[in-house]
Amino acid sequence: MSAEAKIRDEICRTAKSMFDRGLTHGSTGNLSARLEDGWLLTPTGSTLGSLDPSRLSKLDWNGRLVSGDPPSKENFLHLAMYEERAKANAVAGAVVHLHSTHSVAVSVLEDIDAEDVLPPITAYYVMRIGSLPLVPYYAPGDLELANAVRRFAGRHHAVLLANHGPVVAGASLQSAADAIEELEETAKLFLLLQGRRLRVLTGEQIRTLRARPKP
Ligand code: ZN
Repeated sequence: MSAEAKIRDEICRTAKSMFDRGLTHGSTGNLSARLEDGWLLTPTGSTLGSLDPSRLSKLDWNGRLVSGDPPSKENFLHLAMYEERAKANAVAGAVVHLHSTHSVAVSVLEDIDAEDVLPPITAYYVMRIGSLPLVPYYAPGDLELANAVRRFAGRHHAVLLANHGPVVAGASLQSAADAIEELEETAKLFLLLQGRRLRVLTGEQIRTLRARPKP
C-alpha cells in the first residue's frame, strides 16, 4: 500500500472512531493530513462516520482541488493552520476540527480567560495542549475567521473558535487526534467542576512537564 493510501485509510478510520464515539455529529467536523504533494481533507457535506478513502478531497497548497469530492467549506481553517505552523518552524502533519459538545460549551461561557481558556487540570492536558486561546466569533465560511486563526496559529497548535469548536494541529494525525480528544475531555472536566474550588497544577509542576519530551 502506498504512503498516500495509508494516510487515506487512517483519515477514514480516525474519523469513524470519532463519529462513533459522539465526538462530532451530523456532517460536522473535518480532518486533514499532509502528503508529499499536497494535502487530503474530508469532503464537504460528508459525515465522518462513513467516509470513502478514494473520495477524500486532495488539494494543493493554494487550496485548489486536485482530485476527489469538493472539500469541506472549512478548508481555509486547515490551510491557515498548516501555513502558520510552517512559518513558525513547527510543521504540522495533520489538522483536526470538531464541533465536540463540551469544547463548544466552554467556548460559549462568558467568564473564560480568552488568552488561555482551560486551567491546567491534568498533566496530559498540559503536555498535549498546553495553552488554548479563544478565537473571536465569525460566521462559518467568513474568511475573517481564517485571518483570526492565523493570528494565533504561529504560537499555538490548538485554538478554540468561540461558539463553534476546537482546531488542533499535530505532527501526525494520531497526535492531532489525541490532542483534540484530550482537549474535549478536559472541557468536560472543567464543566463538571464549575462552581467548585480547584487545585490545578502549579507553575513548577507545569515547567517540569514542559521540560519532558512530548508524549
Ligand atoms: Zn466548524
